Amino acid sequence: MRDFSSDHRWLSLNTATLRKQGDFSEIIDACARHGIRAIDPWREQVANMGLDRAARAVRDAGLDLSGYCRGGLFPADAARRGEVRDDNRRCVDEAKALGAACIVLVAGGLPQYARPGSHPSKDIAAARAQVEEGLAEMLDYAKEARVPLAIEPLHPAYAADRCCVNTTAQALDLCDRLDPGRSGMLGVALDVYHIWWDPEVMGQIARAGKDRLLAFHVCDWLVPTKDILNDRGMMGDGVIDIKRLRAAVEAQGYAGYSEIEIFSNDWWAKPLDEVLKTCIERHRTVV
Ligand code: ZN
Repeated sequence: MRDFSSDHRWLSLNTATLRKQGDFSEIIDACARHGIRAIDPWREQVANMGLDRAARAVRDAGLDLSGYCRGGLFPADAARRGEVRDDNRRCVDEAKALGAACIVLVAGGLPQYARPGSHPSKDIAAARAQVEEGLAEMLDYAKEARVPLAIEPLHPAYAADRCCVNTTAQALDLCDRLDPGRSGMLGVALDVYHIWWDPEVMGQIARAGKDRLLAFHVCDWLVPTKDILNDRGMMGDGVIDIKRLRAAVEAQGYAGYSEIEIFSNDWWAKPLDEVLKTCIERHRTVV
């Protein structure tokens, strides 16, 4: 397992962590100030700056992109599948222009939440089938562009409104069915927030192996959690054994960034430089 205690060269910042403190260009400047060499930006932040300008800013700053957030949200009424496909193709094009290592995919939940305006449904099995269909189509496009897709399983609490792929096993089943040859173009983004509770997680990390482990996200699970979406903890403030999970992915050969992704009303209220200083300190001590 890599030693993170003396520098933070393997720290990547998911830019949602500073969503309320700065725009994309301010976040890029902050990364330079703090010696952070990788980010994972969100599509709306890039769109606000303009794709060309954003791509140039990333290049000029010498930043790596550990991922691009996010593609997916597949379930939708039949009439809207074309819109879903086009949106995901644009996401692939943007990720390629930015030079992202992968696209982080959040599959989507029931169609009325994944694509508002779709007819209400309680059929989660049908939603999961639509995820597989949409993902297969997106994968063909992504393969041509050489942009890998990383399925992020989300905690089951999000199954209805965000993501009906809820375990690492389920994500890897999709990988095995859609990419049996392990092309390196389809894998998983493992976020400790979503996987720490899973009794099967260690075995599934071994099953994934190096070629399916495309991204590793860190934060912490607070007890109690006041808001299921926006009360993630700073690493070290909660109950996740982050080092144990990092050791497991690195035992498979994962050698990429450890990406800090904290959606938190508390941390969004703090000054940008204080947040980054704390991220770096915790990355060295508890990640
Ligand atoms: Zn994540």
